[in-house]
Amino acid sequence: MTTMAIDLNPYFRKLILVATHNPVVAKIVNAYGMRLGASRFVAGESFDECAPKLQQLNRDGFKCNTTILGEAITDRALANQVTDDYISILDRIERDGIECNLAVKLTQMGLNIDEELAYANIERLVRHAWAKGNFVRIDMEDSPLVDVTLRIYTRLRDAGYDNVGTVLQSYLYRTGDDYEGLIPYRPNLRIVKGAYLEPPTVAYPSKSDVDARYLILTKDMLAHNVYTGIATHDTKIIDAVIEYANRNGISRDTFEFQMLYGIATNLQKDLVARGYTVLIATPHGPQWYFYLMRRLAERPANVLFFLKNLFR
Ligand SMILES: Cc1cc2nc3c(=O)[nH]c(=O)nc-3n(C[C@H](O)[C@H](O)[C@H](O)COP(=O)(O)OP(=O)(O)OC[C@H]3O[C@@H](n4cnc5c(N)ncnc54)[C@H](O)[C@@H]3O)c2cc1C
Repeated sequence: MTTMAIDLNPYFRKLILVATHNPVVAKIVNAYGMRLGASRFVAGESFDECAPKLQQLNRDGFKCNTTILGEAITDRALANQVTDDYISILDRIERDGIECNLAVKLTQMGLNIDEELAYANIERLVRHAWAKGNFVRIDMEDSPLVDVTLRIYTRLRDAGYDNVGTVLQSYLYRTGDDYEGLIPYRPNLRIVKGAYLEPPTVAYPSKSDVDARYLILTKDMLAHNVYTGIATHDTKIIDAVIEYANRNGISRDTFEFQMLYGIATNLQKDLVARGYTVLIATPHGPQWYFYLMRRLAERPANVLFFLKNLFR
Protein backbone atom coordinates (compact mmCIF):
# COMPACT_ATOMS: atom_id res chain seq x y z
CA MET A 1 0.00 0.00 0.00
CA THR A 2 1.37 3.43 -0.84
CA THR A 3 0.82 6.42 1.41
CA MET A 4 0.81 9.98 0.16
CA ALA A 5 2.30 12.69 2.39
CA ILE A 6 0.03 15.73 2.45
CA ASP A 7 1.59 19.03 3.46
CA LEU A 8 -0.92 20.48 5.90
CA ASN A 9 1.04 23.69 6.49
CA PRO A 10 -0.66 25.81 3.78
CA TYR A 11 -4.10 24.90 5.26
CA PHE A 12 -2.89 25.67 8.74
CA ARG A 13 -1.43 29.02 7.60
CA LYS A 14 -4.73 29.99 5.99
CA LEU A 15 -6.69 28.92 9.07
CA ILE A 16 -4.61 31.09 11.42
CA LEU A 17 -4.60 34.10 9.07
CA VAL A 18 -8.40 33.91 8.71
CA ALA A 19 -8.84 33.43 12.49
CA THR A 20 -6.77 36.58 13.06
CA HIS A 21 -9.83 38.67 12.15
CA ASN A 22 -12.15 36.79 14.51
CA PRO A 23 -12.99 39.07 17.48
CA VAL A 24 -13.11 36.17 19.97
CA VAL A 25 -9.65 34.95 18.95
CA ALA A 26 -8.36 38.53 19.14
CA LYS A 27 -9.81 38.99 22.63
CA ILE A 28 -8.32 35.77 24.01
CA VAL A 29 -4.89 36.21 22.40
CA ASN A 30 -4.70 39.87 23.47
CA ALA A 31 -5.59 38.95 27.04
CA TYR A 32 -3.15 36.06 27.45
CA GLY A 33 -0.70 36.32 24.54
CA MET A 34 2.22 38.07 26.22
CA ARG A 35 2.11 35.62 29.15
CA LEU A 36 1.76 32.61 26.84
CA GLY A 37 4.82 33.33 24.75
CA ALA A 38 4.44 36.44 22.59
CA SER A 39 7.49 37.78 24.44
CA ARG A 40 9.54 35.24 22.49
CA PHE A 41 8.88 37.31 19.34
CA VAL A 42 8.33 40.81 20.76
CA ALA A 43 11.17 42.59 22.58
CA GLY A 44 8.94 44.35 25.10
CA GLU A 45 5.90 46.59 25.13
CA SER A 46 7.96 49.82 25.21
CA PHE A 47 11.26 51.07 23.77
CA ASP A 48 12.63 51.14 27.34
CA GLU A 49 12.15 47.36 27.50
CA CYS A 50 13.45 46.87 23.97
CA ALA A 51 16.65 48.99 24.21
CA PRO A 52 18.68 46.60 26.43
CA LYS A 53 17.81 43.74 24.08
CA LEU A 54 19.06 45.75 21.11
CA GLN A 55 22.27 46.55 23.01
CA GLN A 56 22.78 42.86 23.80
CA LEU A 57 22.22 41.95 20.15
CA ASN A 58 24.83 44.57 19.15
CA ARG A 59 27.29 43.08 21.67
CA ASP A 60 26.64 39.66 20.10
CA GLY A 61 27.64 41.04 16.71
CA PHE A 62 24.23 41.70 15.16
CA LYS A 63 22.84 44.73 13.36
CA CYS A 64 19.26 45.50 14.41
CA ASN A 65 16.19 47.31 13.42
CA THR A 66 13.17 48.09 15.53
CA THR A 67 9.50 48.69 14.79
CA ILE A 68 6.74 50.10 16.94
CA LEU A 69 4.17 47.38 16.36
CA GLY A 70 0.83 48.51 15.00
CA GLU A 71 -0.80 48.91 11.63
CA ALA A 72 -3.96 50.05 9.85
CA ILE A 73 -4.32 53.23 11.89
CA THR A 74 -7.52 55.17 11.07
CA ASP A 75 -6.95 58.20 13.28
CA ARG A 76 -4.96 61.14 11.90
CA ALA A 77 -3.68 62.32 15.31
CA LEU A 78 -2.50 58.78 16.13
CA ALA A 79 -0.62 58.50 12.83
CA ASN A 80 1.17 61.79 13.62
CA GLN A 81 1.86 60.61 17.18
CA VAL A 82 3.45 57.35 15.98
CA THR A 83 5.74 59.39 13.72
CA ASP A 84 6.72 61.58 16.69
CA ASP A 85 7.41 58.41 18.72
CA TYR A 86 9.67 57.07 15.96
CA ILE A 87 11.53 60.40 15.90
CA SER A 88 12.11 60.14 19.67
CA ILE A 89 13.40 56.60 19.18
CA LEU A 90 15.92 57.83 16.60
CA ASP A 91 17.14 60.34 19.20
CA ARG A 92 17.39 57.61 21.86
CA ILE A 93 19.28 55.31 19.46
CA GLU A 94 21.81 58.08 18.82
CA ARG A 95 22.08 59.06 22.50
CA ASP A 96 22.57 55.47 23.70
CA GLY A 97 24.94 54.54 20.85
CA ILE A 98 22.80 51.64 19.65
CA GLU A 99 23.37 50.33 16.13
CA CYS A 100 19.76 50.15 15.03
CA ASN A 101 17.67 51.40 12.15
CA LEU A 102 13.89 51.50 11.71
CA ALA A 103 11.36 49.40 9.82
CA VAL A 104 7.95 51.01 9.52
CA LYS A 105 4.54 50.32 8.05
CA LEU A 106 2.86 53.07 6.03
CA THR A 107 -0.60 52.12 7.33
CA GLN A 108 0.70 53.08 10.76
CA MET A 109 1.62 56.51 9.38
CA GLY A 110 -1.83 57.19 8.00
CA LEU A 111 -1.91 55.46 4.60
CA ASN A 112 -5.44 54.14 5.14
CA ILE A 113 -6.59 57.72 5.80
CA ASP A 114 -4.78 59.62 3.08
CA GLU A 115 -1.71 59.00 0.92
CA GLU A 116 -0.50 62.59 1.45
CA LEU A 117 -0.68 62.19 5.24
CA ALA A 118 1.40 59.00 5.04
CA TYR A 119 3.89 60.71 2.73
CA ALA A 120 4.19 63.75 5.00
CA ASN A 121 4.82 61.51 8.02
CA ILE A 122 7.34 59.19 6.37
CA GLU A 123 9.14 62.18 4.80
CA ARG A 124 9.41 63.80 8.23
CA LEU A 125 10.81 60.58 9.67
CA VAL A 126 13.25 59.89 6.82
CA ARG A 127 14.47 63.52 7.00
CA HIS A 128 15.15 63.16 10.74
CA ALA A 129 16.88 59.81 10.18
CA TRP A 130 19.01 61.40 7.44
CA ALA A 131 20.12 64.15 9.87
CA LYS A 132 21.08 61.42 12.37
CA GLY A 133 22.89 59.29 9.77
CA ASN A 134 20.25 56.58 10.15
CA PHE A 135 18.11 54.53 7.79
CA VAL A 136 14.39 53.75 7.47
CA ARG A 137 12.94 50.72 5.70
CA ILE A 138 9.33 50.76 4.54
CA ASP A 139 7.83 47.29 5.15
CA MET A 140 5.58 45.80 2.49
CA GLU A 141 2.02 45.10 3.60
CA ASP A 142 -0.75 43.26 1.72
CA SER A 143 -1.08 43.33 -2.07
CA PRO A 144 -3.59 46.21 -2.49
CA LEU A 145 -0.92 48.46 -0.92
CA VAL A 146 2.03 47.53 -3.13
CA ASP A 147 1.47 50.25 -5.78
CA VAL A 148 1.11 53.06 -3.25
CA THR A 149 4.04 51.81 -1.15
CA LEU A 150 6.34 51.79 -4.16
CA ARG A 151 4.98 55.17 -5.24
CA ILE A 152 5.86 56.68 -1.85
CA TYR A 153 9.27 54.96 -1.84
CA THR A 154 10.20 56.32 -5.29
CA ARG A 155 8.85 59.76 -4.38
CA LEU A 156 11.22 59.85 -1.41
CA ARG A 157 14.09 58.76 -3.63
CA ASP A 158 13.17 61.41 -6.22
CA ALA A 159 13.22 63.97 -3.40
CA GLY A 160 16.87 63.01 -2.84
CA TYR A 161 16.70 60.69 0.19
CA ASP A 162 18.99 57.67 -0.15
CA ASN A 163 18.61 56.54 3.48
CA VAL A 164 15.36 54.74 2.76
CA GLY A 165 14.66 51.22 1.52
CA THR A 166 11.68 49.01 0.93
CA VAL A 167 10.66 45.37 0.60
CA LEU A 168 9.65 43.00 -2.19
CA GLN A 169 7.65 39.78 -1.69
CA SER A 170 8.51 36.70 -3.78
CA TYR A 171 4.96 35.28 -3.52
CA LEU A 172 3.50 38.02 -5.76
CA TYR A 173 3.44 37.45 -9.53
CA ARG A 174 4.10 41.17 -10.06
CA THR A 175 7.35 41.34 -8.08
CA GLY A 176 9.70 40.70 -11.03
CA ASP A 177 8.25 43.76 -12.82
CA ASP A 178 8.34 45.88 -9.65
CA TYR A 179 11.97 44.94 -9.16
CA GLU A 180 12.90 45.86 -12.77
CA GLY A 181 11.23 49.25 -12.27
CA LEU A 182 13.30 49.92 -9.14
CA ILE A 183 16.74 48.98 -10.54
CA PRO A 184 17.45 52.53 -11.91
CA TYR A 185 17.11 53.83 -8.33
CA ARG A 186 19.98 51.59 -7.14
CA PRO A 187 17.64 50.62 -4.29
CA ASN A 188 18.33 49.05 -0.94
CA LEU A 189 15.84 46.19 -0.92
CA ARG A 190 14.74 43.54 1.52
CA ILE A 191 13.43 40.39 -0.11
CA VAL A 192 10.87 38.27 1.76
CA LYS A 193 8.53 35.44 0.83
CA GLY A 194 5.43 37.34 2.01
CA ALA A 195 3.36 37.06 5.17
CA TYR A 196 -0.23 37.94 4.18
CA LEU A 197 -3.18 35.89 3.01
CA GLU A 198 -3.25 36.56 -0.74
CA PRO A 199 -5.57 35.07 -3.40
CA PRO A 200 -4.14 32.86 -6.19
CA THR A 201 -5.00 35.64 -8.65
CA VAL A 202 -2.10 37.72 -7.27
CA ALA A 203 0.25 35.30 -5.49
CA TYR A 204 1.76 31.87 -6.13
CA PRO A 205 -0.32 29.41 -4.09
CA SER A 206 2.46 26.81 -3.96
CA LYS A 207 5.30 27.20 -1.45
CA SER A 208 7.78 25.59 -3.86
CA ASP A 209 7.05 28.33 -6.43
CA VAL A 210 7.43 31.07 -3.78
CA ASP A 211 10.78 29.57 -2.70
CA ALA A 212 11.99 29.22 -6.29
CA ARG A 213 11.02 32.83 -7.10
CA TYR A 214 12.79 33.98 -3.93
CA LEU A 215 16.06 32.49 -5.07
CA ILE A 216 15.76 33.75 -8.64
CA LEU A 217 15.04 37.31 -7.48
CA THR A 218 17.80 37.28 -4.85
CA LYS A 219 20.44 36.05 -7.31
CA ASP A 220 19.39 38.72 -9.78
CA MET A 221 19.64 41.44 -7.11
CA LEU A 222 23.12 40.29 -6.13
CA ALA A 223 24.17 40.08 -9.78
CA HIS A 224 23.00 43.70 -10.28
CA ASN A 225 24.88 44.88 -7.20
CA VAL A 226 21.60 45.86 -5.49
CA TYR A 227 22.16 46.02 -1.72
CA THR A 228 19.96 43.14 -0.56
CA GLY A 229 18.54 42.26 2.84
CA ILE A 230 17.98 38.51 2.44
CA ALA A 231 15.19 38.15 4.99
CA THR A 232 14.50 34.47 5.55
CA HIS A 233 15.12 31.66 8.03
CA ASP A 234 15.13 29.10 5.21
CA THR A 235 18.47 27.29 5.41
CA LYS A 236 18.16 25.86 1.89
CA ILE A 237 17.85 29.38 0.47
CA ILE A 238 20.60 30.77 2.71
CA ASP A 239 23.00 27.97 1.68
CA ALA A 240 22.16 28.49 -2.00
CA VAL A 241 22.73 32.26 -1.73
CA ILE A 242 26.10 31.77 -0.02
CA GLU A 243 27.13 29.25 -2.65
CA TYR A 244 26.04 31.64 -5.44
CA ALA A 245 27.87 34.59 -3.87
CA ASN A 246 31.07 32.57 -3.43
CA ARG A 247 30.96 31.20 -6.96
CA ASN A 248 30.40 34.63 -8.51
CA GLY A 249 32.79 36.64 -6.35
CA ILE A 250 29.96 38.72 -4.84
CA SER A 251 31.23 40.80 -1.95
CA ARG A 252 29.71 40.23 1.50
CA ASP A 253 29.41 44.02 1.72
CA THR A 254 26.58 44.00 -0.81
CA PHE A 255 24.13 41.88 1.17
CA GLU A 256 23.05 40.99 4.67
CA PHE A 257 20.89 38.28 6.14
CA GLN A 258 17.87 39.46 8.09
CA MET A 259 15.89 37.39 10.58
CA LEU A 260 13.20 37.96 13.14
CA TYR A 261 13.82 38.34 16.86
CA GLY A 262 13.33 34.99 18.59
CA ILE A 263 13.36 32.83 15.46
CA ALA A 264 16.17 30.48 14.39
CA THR A 265 18.57 31.99 16.93
CA ASN A 266 21.25 29.30 16.40
CA LEU A 267 21.24 30.00 12.69
CA GLN A 268 21.56 33.73 13.40
CA LYS A 269 24.63 33.13 15.60
CA ASP A 270 26.17 30.66 13.18
CA LEU A 271 26.05 33.17 10.29
CA VAL A 272 27.65 35.90 12.42
CA ALA A 273 30.38 33.45 13.48
CA ARG A 274 31.03 32.76 9.79
CA GLY A 275 31.55 36.48 9.17
CA TYR A 276 28.22 37.40 7.55
CA THR A 277 26.28 40.54 8.41
CA VAL A 278 23.04 39.60 10.15
CA LEU A 279 20.30 42.06 11.07
CA ILE A 280 17.73 41.06 13.68
CA ALA A 281 14.33 42.68 13.23
CA THR A 282 13.40 43.44 16.85
CA PRO A 283 9.89 44.85 17.21
CA HIS A 284 8.32 46.28 20.33
CA GLY A 285 5.09 47.89 21.49
CA PRO A 286 1.75 46.95 22.96
CA GLN A 287 0.02 46.45 19.58
CA TRP A 288 1.65 43.10 18.92
CA TYR A 289 -1.47 41.06 18.02
CA PHE A 290 -1.29 41.04 14.18
CA TYR A 291 2.48 40.54 14.21
CA LEU A 292 2.16 37.60 16.57
CA MET A 293 -0.61 35.96 14.53
CA ARG A 294 1.53 36.13 11.36
CA ARG A 295 4.38 34.42 13.26
CA LEU A 296 2.01 31.71 14.50
CA ALA A 297 0.72 31.16 10.97
CA GLU A 298 4.25 30.57 9.70
CA ARG A 299 4.84 27.54 11.85
CA PRO A 300 2.37 25.07 13.43
CA ALA A 301 4.92 24.35 16.19
CA ASN A 302 4.54 27.92 17.42
CA VAL A 303 0.88 27.31 18.22
CA LEU A 304 1.83 24.15 20.14
CA PHE A 305 4.38 26.24 22.06
CA PHE A 306 1.55 28.59 23.03
CA LEU A 307 -0.84 25.82 23.98
CA LYS A 308 1.83 24.13 26.13
CA ASN A 309 2.28 27.38 28.05
CA LEU A 310 -1.49 27.61 28.51
CA PHE A 311 -1.61 24.25 30.27
CA ARG A 312 1.61 24.70 32.24
C1 LIG B 1 13.56 40.59 8.74
C2 LIG B 1 12.24 40.19 8.15
C3 LIG B 1 11.39 41.19 7.69
C4 LIG B 1 10.16 40.85 7.12
N1 LIG B 1 9.38 41.82 6.55
C5 LIG B 1 8.26 41.48 5.88
C6 LIG B 1 7.51 42.45 5.16
O1 LIG B 1 7.84 43.63 5.12
N2 LIG B 1 6.40 42.02 4.51
C7 LIG B 1 6.01 40.70 4.49
O2 LIG B 1 5.00 40.38 3.85
N3 LIG B 1 6.70 39.77 5.18
C8 LIG B 1 7.80 40.13 5.86
N4 LIG B 1 8.53 39.16 6.54
C9 LIG B 1 7.95 37.80 6.73
C10 LIG B 1 8.22 36.87 5.55
O3 LIG B 1 7.42 37.26 4.46
C11 LIG B 1 7.90 35.40 5.92
O4 LIG B 1 6.55 35.30 6.28
C12 LIG B 1 8.74 34.88 7.07
O5 LIG B 1 10.06 35.33 6.96
C13 LIG B 1 8.77 33.33 7.10
O6 LIG B 1 9.32 32.85 5.92
P1 LIG B 1 10.81 32.27 5.76
O7 LIG B 1 11.44 33.05 4.67
O8 LIG B 1 11.54 32.26 7.04
O9 LIG B 1 10.59 30.82 5.15
P2 LIG B 1 9.69 29.59 5.60
O10 LIG B 1 9.81 28.62 4.47
O11 LIG B 1 8.34 30.03 6.03
O12 LIG B 1 10.44 29.07 6.86
C14 LIG B 1 11.74 28.47 6.78
C15 LIG B 1 12.09 27.92 8.15
O13 LIG B 1 12.24 29.02 9.04
C16 LIG B 1 11.71 28.76 10.31
N5 LIG B 1 10.59 29.68 10.57
C17 LIG B 1 9.97 30.49 9.68
N6 LIG B 1 9.03 31.23 10.29
C18 LIG B 1 9.05 30.88 11.59
C19 LIG B 1 8.32 31.28 12.73
N7 LIG B 1 7.37 32.21 12.67
N8 LIG B 1 8.61 30.68 13.91
C20 LIG B 1 9.57 29.75 14.01
N9 LIG B 1 10.30 29.32 12.96
C21 LIG B 1 10.05 29.88 11.77
C22 LIG B 1 11.22 27.33 10.27
O14 LIG B 1 12.26 26.49 10.69
C23 LIG B 1 10.96 27.09 8.81
O15 LIG B 1 11.04 25.74 8.44
C24 LIG B 1 9.77 39.47 7.07
C25 LIG B 1 10.64 38.49 7.53
C26 LIG B 1 11.86 38.82 8.05
C27 LIG B 1 12.78 37.72 8.48
